[in-house]
Amino acid sequence: MTVDTNSMSCEQFQSQLAELVGSGADVLNHPHIRDCKNNCRQLYSDLQTIAQAAKQLFPDEQPEDNLWARIESAIKKGDG
Ligand SMILES: [Zn+2]
Repeated sequence: MTVDTNSMSCEQFQSQLAELVGSGADVLNHPHIRDCKNNCRQLYSDLQTIAQAAKQLFPDEQPEDNLWARIESAIKKGDG
């Protein structure tokens, strides 16, 4: 199945964003974020800040699964 990333909605993009950040993808070159007129770019920079803070809080642990699930659910809640 092919996903047309250009026509992706902000909601679709944001639902994948935590995963993209967690996987180290080059999110700033994502077709959606390049075209997005809404808050996806800001959301991405927030996520990066959170991810970096989390790494400093848990330097010896590997909390990724839990952490990203929590970040993702926080975003979805914030979406209202
Ligand atoms: Zn967007």
